Amino acid sequence: MSHQSDYDIVIAGAGFAGALTALCLNECGFNVCLIEKGKHPRFAIGESSTPIADMILRSLSSKYNLPWLYDFSRYGSWQKAHPEIVCGIKRGFSYYKHYPGKEFSTDENHCNELLVAASVSDELSDTNWLRSDFDAFLVTKVEEAGIDYFDRTEIISAIRENNQWEFNTVNNNNTITISGSFFIDASGSGILADKLFSVKSSADNFLTNSFAVFSHFDNLPCWTDMLHQKNIATGDYPYDPDNSALHHVLDEGWIWALRFNNNRTSWGFALNGNDASLQKMQPQEIWKTMRDRYPDINYILNDAAFSAEPGNIVRFGRLQRKLETCFGDGWAAMPHTVGFIDPLFSTGIAYSLAGIERIVEMLSGNRSFEQPLYDQLKEYENIVFEELKLIDMLVAGCYETMKHFSLFNAWSMLYFTFTIMYEQRRLKNLPVKYFLEADNDEVQKIANSTYKELLALTAQPTISQQDIDTFTDTIRERIKPYNTAGLLEPSSKNMYHHTIAKL
Ligand SMILES: Cc1cc2nc3c(=O)[nH]c(=O)nc-3n(C[C@H](O)[C@H](O)[C@H](O)COP(=O)(O)OP(=O)(O)OC[C@H]3O[C@@H](n4cnc5c(N)ncnc54)[C@H](O)[C@@H]3O)c2cc1C
Repeated sequence: MSHQSDYDIVIAGAGFAGALTALCLNECGFNVCLIEKGKHPRFAIGESSTPIADMILRSLSSKYNLPWLYDFSRYGSWQKAHPEIVCGIKRGFSYYKHYPGKEFSTDENHCNELLVAASVSDELSDTNWLRSDFDAFLVTKVEEAGIDYFDRTEIISAIRENNQWEFNTVNNNNTITISGSFFIDASGSGILADKLFSVKSSADNFLTNSFAVFSHFDNLPCWTDMLHQKNIATGDYPYDPDNSALHHVLDEGWIWALRFNNNRTSWGFALNGNDASLQKMQPQEIWKTMRDRYPDINYILNDAAFSAEPGNIVRFGRLQRKLETCFGDGWAAMPHTVGFIDPLFSTGIAYSLAGIERIVEMLSGNRSFEQPLYDQLKEYENIVFEELKLIDMLVAGCYETMKHFSLFNAWSMLYFTFTIMYEQRRLKNLPVKYFLEADNDEVQKIANSTYKELLALTAQPTISQQDIDTFTDTIRERIKPYNTAGLLEPSSKNMYHHTIAKL
């Protein structure tokens, strides 16, 4: 049994969120330690980054004196600085609608396609992070910075006395007591908060109900090659969809296909949890069922070989979860520990990074962890819960529309509009509190009223073309004051070349 010196801040969970938080707090002069249950490198899901995530990386880099972090905010600089850390080019969000039993087809107006560019070149592009590589690298930076790092270490219990924590931990059958003033839960689920603080996590009251089956594969065929084989024109595409967050939209949910530059692809089905027959199936059976239903998906997966990690199909049950509270006496939880909705729109990484900005700012402004900190943590909780609510509505609306791609297309423009609004605020150096402008009355009004109308529409026994046109016109009108990217302009034919926020 040994005792580790008193830390200012003890962090549990060495994913990118825990590691970056440790590095920023260390730069603020706190004595920090990082505890990880497993060991790096380890497989992790959650790979597709966004312009907002990149902006926050750059901001953390300059604010907390982490110059090397800047390189990871764009594909070009990442490749120059660290080609050995695997990532992929992500030029934007691409969607392709597949119908059961039918090969993918479209028309000259791209009726079954939607491509939304997020960057103007591969050099300046966002990235898909191979998390095992990137997270392991961050931990080497943690160690280089002289931060105490304990891996393969399990926190068994926690006692708080006189404003000090004492964590009873086990590493390789050795008991280590770690003490500190403040605790950050960055463990990425609600399990630890329940174990240490009896704070429960639940899936109650979410609009979205989805689950996922996924893995990594080597050498999957490229979707662009398949489009060319089908003589589908890609001449007016803003980018190569294999270099993007590629989504195949199905009736039962959707697929993500995220390529890395080592011929590995992250491939997963996120499926509607209200589909009772799919819910009951084992992962292999779900895989086979979806392949049997969708010929092109079957073709892509025909010779699919598992990558070394994870090496099998992984199933996550219901994805939606939220902790009862984000903080307590002497502790706070990072956003991905607080809650999660669904991978659609890749909000997770940016949402986590936005949480790092807030937590580090709060702690560095309240170095003795006294009452004003708790007032700010209360506000943090309101923010994180409101953000989850907005993301939930945006994602739930998408699941409602997956059988009707033109409705999906129109509804998803709300997400892109709110994203551009948020990006604009950041670019103008205006204060940003809520991710995706979740506190903006107009955003709330647009999202809530349009969601209600959407539910009324999808509850109809049939949806006519006129219904779809009216719904699309309504959205076009509502987003007009903020629509700097020409979203829903018929002349764009679902191909958006310039959605980058402009000043
Ligand atoms: C299926 C799926 C797909 C996703 N896809 C995307 C996407 O494309 N884009 C996107 O932006 N986001 C995505 N996300 C969200 C993304 O995964 C998260 O935002 C991200 O992983 C959060 O990072 P983190 O460091 O907070 O947590 P994690 O990555 O979960 O890391 C937590 C770490 O804590 C460790 N740990 C766990 N328990 C303990 C303990 N008791 N003590 C100490 N350590 C512990 C774990 O071993 C792990 O290393 C996805 C999520 C899911 C579920």
